[in-house]
Amino acid sequence: MIIDGKAAAERLRRQIAEEVARLRATHDLQPGLAVVLVGEDPASQVYVRNKGRQTLEAGMLSHGHKLDASVSEEELLTLIDTLNGDPSIHGILVQLPLPDHIDEQRVLQTIDPAKDVDGFHPLNVGGLASGDPHALVPCTPTGCLLLLLEQFDGNLSGQNALVIGRSNIVGKPMAQLLLRESCTVTIAHSRTRDLPAVCRKADIVVAAVGRPGMVRGDWIKPGAVVIDVGINRVQREGEDKPKLVGDVAFAEAADVAGAITPVPGGVGPMTIACLLRNTVIAACRHAEVEGQL
Ligand code: NDP
Repeated sequence: MIIDGKAAAERLRRQIAEEVARLRATHDLQPGLAVVLVGEDPASQVYVRNKGRQTLEAGMLSHGHKLDASVSEEELLTLIDTLNGDPSIHGILVQLPLPDHIDEQRVLQTIDPAKDVDGFHPLNVGGLASGDPHALVPCTPTGCLLLLLEQFDGNLSGQNALVIGRSNIVGKPMAQLLLRESCTVTIAHSRTRDLPAVCRKADIVVAAVGRPGMVRGDWIKPGAVVIDVGINRVQREGEDKPKLVGDVAFAEAADVAGAITPVPGGVGPMTIACLLRNTVIAACRHAEVEGQL
């Protein structure tokens, strides 16, 4: 079975739009998201445009801030301070990567943790690791988890889950979320010995590596659920445009897996939907309103 992430994201966005309409009607609360883009990176521009469009479509406020690549770190930090103090903004996202002269960690640590809808502030990272239910959780792993919960009827308890990749953005928070769902979690990385053998034991495989087609069909346990986070642009001979492929050799793995996400159309669309979700959650907490997401 192929997991349709696009359809799942549409369902989630519809649910978010309904919740926003309710919050506006009953609490005069309109969640607002500020997205800060530094420089002209074409991929980042596309992401930021999509985020802005989907924020507005959900009935939320969208504030875009485009800064020149030459902006100083101090100027960027001053903007973040202003956004931290703006009551109409409940979520702040600084699009990464930032230019080399800016200290990314310093920027992320300046964002008010209560508005940190990317979930990268150390307080949110620590909160997720220590089981704080109020921690804001990074969007991509949240999207993966929602897809998995759908596959397992809401109960992942006791499943053997393998996360391939240990980045702060995907691998580590993914492992924490699976642990929170009572999976038995293994985290693999570039130094893991005999990864195919480790993989064959997993009921759930989340691949977040950045290597096209690395996970082969014969690594997959029959019936396992495979979530492919990888987004790799591959230029094949005879094709004029590069193609997007995941970290899993899709055709091979789809023959063995119980369910698998495609690339594109799997995890990707869920990521922005989860950003909107985090913004609504942050807005409800700020206004001390009980949310329904
Ligand atoms: P990173 O480069 O930060 O991390 C990659 C991880 O993969 C590292 O932990 C690395 O191990 C591990 N790795 C590398 N080679 C191997 C190998 N041969 N065997 C096992 N593990 C290996 O990447 P990200 O986590 O940021 O992203 C991963 C992928 O997900 C990328 O393709 C990215 O584009 C995509 N992505 C997709 C998103 C979406 O919305 N769908 C959002 C974010 C990312 P080590 O630590 O030992 O170096």
